[in-house]
Amino acid sequence: MDCIFCDIVSGKEKAEIIYQDENVISFLDIRPINYGHALVIPKTHYENFHAVSPEDLNSVISVTQKVADAVNKGLSTDGINIIANNGVASGQTIFHFHFHIIPRFKTDAFNYRPVLKSYGSGQMKEFADKIRIAVKK
Ligand code: AMP
Ligand code: ZN
Repeated sequence: MDCIFCDIVSGKEKAEIIYQDENVISFLDIRPINYGHALVIPKTHYENFHAVSPEDLNSVISVTQKVADAVNKGLSTDGINIIANNGVASGQTIFHFHFHIIPRFKTDAFNYRPVLKSYGSGQMKEFADKIRIAVKK
């Protein structure tokens, strides 16, 4: 399978690696939103958040916290965004699951300000019902 992140795991593709252990690797994003923008991925290939095994997800989340703490301390950030894009509509471009750790500063230019919606009468419950039915017990 052609996957640039699998190539980073195997060492075929170069990366600025920050941390790795048996199951997880973290490296800098080559097109950072802010300098120090890092990615954390499972070494096993999974297409997205929905596909990751619970064990690998646990490992990835623990490493994400470790690396986010380090980015925070090492770069004296004012905040951190942790995001995962899942699916083309969300902006996912590399289909090997990853978390983004984005260092944030009070003065940075990354101001994503969405237009927030309001729920109409009864509409909030309708949406909650759809999700409640689909939640795996
Ligand atoms: P996403 O759009 O959420 O799938 O994020 C994929 C991210 O991977 C983007 O922010 C890219 O800049 C980054 N990226 C793509 N190729 C590489 C690479 N070879 N090394 C490091 N980061 C990469
Ligand atoms: Zn992969």
